[in-house]
Amino acid sequence: MQNMVILGATGSIGASTLSVIEQNPNDYRVYALVAHTNVDKMLALCLAHRPKIALMVDEAAAQRLKQSLPSQLNIQVLTGEAELLALVSGSEVDTVMAAIVGAAGLPATLAAVKAGKRVLLANKEALVMSGRLFIDEMQRSNAQVLPVDSEHNAIFQCLPHQVQEEIGACRLDDAGIASILLTGSGGPFLNSDLDLLADMTPEQACKHPNWSMGRKISVDSASMMNKGLEYIEARWLFNASKDQLKVIIHPQSVIHSMVQYKDGSVLAQMGNPDMRTPIAHCMAYPERIYAGVEPLDFFKVGQLSFLEPDFNRFPCLALAIDACEQGQEATTVLNAANELAVDAFLNGQIRFTDIAKINEQCLTKVAQQSLHSLEAILALDGEARHLAAELIKRL
Ligand code: NAD
Ligand code: MG
Repeated sequence: MQNMVILGATGSIGASTLSVIEQNPNDYRVYALVAHTNVDKMLALCLAHRPKIALMVDEAAAQRLKQSLPSQLNIQVLTGEAELLALVSGSEVDTVMAAIVGAAGLPATLAAVKAGKRVLLANKEALVMSGRLFIDEMQRSNAQVLPVDSEHNAIFQCLPHQVQEEIGACRLDDAGIASILLTGSGGPFLNSDLDLLADMTPEQACKHPNWSMGRKISVDSASMMNKGLEYIEARWLFNASKDQLKVIIHPQSVIHSMVQYKDGSVLAQMGNPDMRTPIAHCMAYPERIYAGVEPLDFFKVGQLSFLEPDFNRFPCLALAIDACEQGQEATTVLNAANELAVDAFLNGQIRFTDIAKINEQCLTKVAQQSLHSLEAILALDGEARHLAAELIKRL
């Protein structure tokens, strides 16, 4: 029986994780649920899953949850960052699903890594921001980090066992691997008229053709910044160089990524686009469990197609690949700028095409500095947010 903490329990990944747990009640226990402000959702989850602990990072939300929870359920309500960090590090916790969205997830995800937990990593922004520090802490604590992001999970599944055991320090070349082929659907604007992109609404951007996800990652998928963040995520997880990482557009989202070997073999992981597959894989690794996902029907799929990414249509993807080359300061700044720009777009303050402009302008201001501590990373993240906020005001 694994005791699980679900960070971001009220979100899309949270829901998929709870669905997998429901189907395997003898192997996983919902020990704690963590969310930000959504009390109604958290209350419903508490009634359905009876965790030992429910933590709302927002204090007022925690207060309201406490008042609404029937006392006979004996659910302890916690709040605030300090209690969150103590919770994920606690001795009763085996596994942490890291699925808070954005930079907000970094402190708790890193705390779980430092405490040597089994960490199921959905929160890609945490790794993009902290890169080297994250990997170093993982090696120091012997935490087992497993990739939930469907592409990275696919790549992981296509790697030889000994390389799977070396996450963060993989020696791809020694294992006969030529390159990692990171696939992406191209999102809702793959075939839109380029002149119309500036006028795309948040609703259009969030209407992903294959996946149902939270709003931030949906906008990132429309700009392909998501693939850019995933490129950086893959760089760290698989210790991959620029020559070993390639992005391929595959509109059907049936192949979730591939590994190309030196002998010409290509291994791909396939399945219906349903996050319960990679989540179940991480939860049970190295075993397999039922995930509740429809089996893939090849006759319904019919065709698989592949395209080269067009950087003119997807400037954010080019920015992320460049930032990855430039170094960790650049990727930390890019992640922060993008979070603010996406938020401003979702709130109707800027146009879709302004997201790339803000990201690019913030990237030109990156100064060299060492990012050896969480404090240094958060300080740079704060600076970049400040700059992005100024640029958004001026638009
Ligand atoms: P979502 O918007 O649906 O949910 C976000 C969750 O984070 C919510 O539970 C919210 O309460 C919590 N949260 C937000 N701000 C917080 C804060 N300051 N403190 C504590 N909790 C906070 O997002 P999602 O789509 O579930 O994505 C979650 C993460 O997983 C993201 O990093 C995303 O990139 C990654 N991911 C998602 C998918 C997907 O299919 N949805 C796929 C791959 C990776
Ligand atoms: Mg992904």
